[in-house]
Amino acid sequence: MLTIDFDNTYARELEGMYLPWQGAVAPAPALLWLNEALALELGLDPQALRGSEGLAMLTGSAMPEGASPLAMAYAGHQFGGFSPQLGDGRALLVGEVTDRQGNRRDIHLKGSGKTPFSRGGDGKAVLGPVLREVLIGEAMHGLGIPTTRALSATTTGDTVWREGPQKGAVLARVAASHLRVGTFQFFYARQETARLRRLADYAIARHDPDLAEQPDRYLAFLHRVIERQMALVAQWMAVGFVHGVMNTDNVAISGETIDYGPCAFLDRYDPAAVFSSIDAQGRYAYGNQPLLARWNLARLAETLLPLIAENPDEALPELQVVIEGGEAIYAAHRRRLFGAKLGVAGAEDALIDGFLEMMARQGADFTGCFRSLGEAARGREGALRAYLGADEALEDWLADWAAKRTEPGDAMDRVNPVYIPRNHQVEAALAAANDGDLAPMQRLLTVFADPFTQREGFGDLEVPAPDASEGYVTYC
Ligand code: AMP
Ligand code: MG
Ligand code: MG
Repeated sequence: MLTIDFDNTYARELEGMYLPWQGAVAPAPALLWLNEALALELGLDPQALRGSEGLAMLTGSAMPEGASPLAMAYAGHQFGGFSPQLGDGRALLVGEVTDRQGNRRDIHLKGSGKTPFSRGGDGKAVLGPVLREVLIGEAMHGLGIPTTRALSATTTGDTVWREGPQKGAVLARVAASHLRVGTFQFFYARQETARLRRLADYAIARHDPDLAEQPDRYLAFLHRVIERQMALVAQWMAVGFVHGVMNTDNVAISGETIDYGPCAFLDRYDPAAVFSSIDAQGRYAYGNQPLLARWNLARLAETLLPLIAENPDEALPELQVVIEGGEAIYAAHRRRLFGAKLGVAGAEDALIDGFLEMMARQGADFTGCFRSLGEAARGREGALRAYLGADEALEDWLADWAAKRTEPGDAMDRVNPVYIPRNHQVEAALAAANDGDLAPMQRLLTVFADPFTQREGFGDLEVPAPDASEGYVTYC
């Protein structure tokens, strides 16, 4: 028996902001992968999830008692252009549960069939991208970066047409919430201020409950979201993560990374790196992410204007200052995180930038180069010199670093991962999984669970592909 103690505040408190909906019935549902650790964290019984009722829920075919499946309404700026109505076009919120730590978490499906928000899409997801989201999300979690996480990957038995026939699949994912910047934009664009206020109060109750009684709570909430997003993007930058589609509908108020589509990790360090097939202009290039995150936060600020001031024009200059303040917040997080990677407490930008500039000139592997610093700190500079030895600036930089370093190599090893989802390895694991062999994927998940600890027998996962990232392209 699958019994889940749902408490569905979204359905109960935000009427008019979603549509109750059911998933499509999967013709031949099968469980491919279950995140048992996460299931236990949520207080769910893995055995019951593996049973027929569990499988029905995880594919969207039939819901257990207490679920209130719904499709959320949201809007969004996509690559800078505003779409007033997006919404869950192939997703469903199943319901909310309270995890073992007492935190409210959404159980959500992606690929569960058409909804009223499908806009001509088929409502489906396919195996490769679903497993990609499993892999990247778990890697992000292992790296200590706030993220939605995959609970399961199931196949439906459907054939879904993309470039050719693909296996239909459903991702069940868990999030602190699915409130996005685009959720606020939906009601702001319709000038539905009463709903906007209800939404904002709901978001505050859920993510910033200590602000609930404050008279200036909407402004305080904006500050919190800015803080979370700036901290998040700094963490992305520190591991070389390129989200790929930072549209406002993919920016979570909770500060979790959400919606793994055409994302990828850097191999060679290149601030202009873009992987997504649909980002021809490089809007969401690696080095643009902090700026675009602030742009997205300005869109959130706009939506809060009617709640912050009687006369929105009066509040505008103040909000502009608040958004501009995000730059300094980001800079502080960046200094802290990159400083830790260099083993230098209170590192200045010049030292950080000096290292990155050498990496850029030498086309050095981002992950490997940072990891080699721990060894260099222990007196073995061979690996670092293999990456940067050809650079004229290296000797001066090393002298400066030695004078400023405050941390031992071991501390640096705890923040410079050995293992990241290397693009070629992810592709190979997905190809094998598509042919029914999940072993390569499991192998990746093993190292992603603790990416800072080097393991025997996984040496092949430490190194970039020979011509890493040359022409690597990701698709939505
Ligand atoms: P994304 O790029 O994943 O953030 O999706 C943007 C919007 O397109 C969201 O409203 C999605 O629900 C919708 N969407 C993406 N793929 C599909 C699909 N296959 N069928 C219906 N809607 C989709
Ligand atoms: Mg999305
Ligand atoms: Mg997506």
